[in-house]
Amino acid sequence: MSRFDGRVAIVTGAASGIGKEIALRLAAEGGIPVVADLNIDAAKATAEEIKGKGSDAFAVAMNVTDEAAVEKGVADVIAKYGKVDILVSNAGIQIVKPLVDFPFEDWKKLLSIHLDGAFLTTKACLKHMYAANYGRVVYMGSVHSKEASKLKAPYVTAKHGLIGLAKVLAKEGAEHNVTANVVCPGFVRTPLVDKQIPEQAKEFGITEEQVVKTIMLKDTVDGEFTTTDDVADAVLYFAAAKTNALTGQSMVVSHGWFMQ
Ligand code: NAD
Repeated sequence: MSRFDGRVAIVTGAASGIGKEIALRLAAEGGIPVVADLNIDAAKATAEEIKGKGSDAFAVAMNVTDEAAVEKGVADVIAKYGKVDILVSNAGIQIVKPLVDFPFEDWKKLLSIHLDGAFLTTKACLKHMYAANYGRVVYMGSVHSKEASKLKAPYVTAKHGLIGLAKVLAKEGAEHNVTANVVCPGFVRTPLVDKQIPEQAKEFGITEEQVVKTIMLKDTVDGEFTTTDDVADAVLYFAAAKTNALTGQSMVVSHGWFMQ
């Protein structure tokens, strides 16, 4: 008997990086991951990889900022499996620019993917979770849910906001046995981070190596990147919570970059 036997888990942004690792790990522990992503080809490839290991998986095309697409994706999951037990709201992007010339369009785009995406996927899943009297919702926060960095105004704003959303859902969901928590990783080498290393080097006029050493890993206890596996451990811990005892919380996984 594994922790997630038969549990249906929608993981947004699961075609790549952290979300993909979460989907793989859920499947390895008996769960059925729904790989929901804007990039349907990559989502299908991830689902095939999981199936190749002998587990079930389902790829769904989903732009998390599009209410109709989110509703359709969740409806397809209900049609196929009859339930959704777990939501990992993970899809996200990064845009780095100084606040003084941050384009309004980029601000809105980033907030929409992180916050509208979390809201819309939560709302679409909740009615099914309430009906089943069971649900585990995990939001992908960041150390930037607790801490700020230059060049990341909308990202820091959105990641702080997810903690508020989780706390409200923890209160509203409790009577339906639905918990909500946030995982807050430090820097993880995924495409999202690889893209911003040269961008930050350009903005600050330093080398890429300096971005890694003097910005990203400067305050860690050991100069190490967090891994997708480390983050998946924390997500699965929250997703497996047996009761409302563990709800409305946020856990930082960052090699000690942020300590609370
Ligand atoms: P990634 O770029 O590897 O993966 C992000 C995935 O989200 C991609 O598959 C992309 O197609 C998908 N996506 C983007 N916009 C979408 C949309 N509108 N609808 C559906 N899917 C969409 O990035 P990652 O590093 O794995 O990031 C995943 C999450 O982890 C993000 O929320 C990010 O903010 C968070 N995070 C990352 C780090 C890090 O260092 N990498 C640290 C803390 C938090």
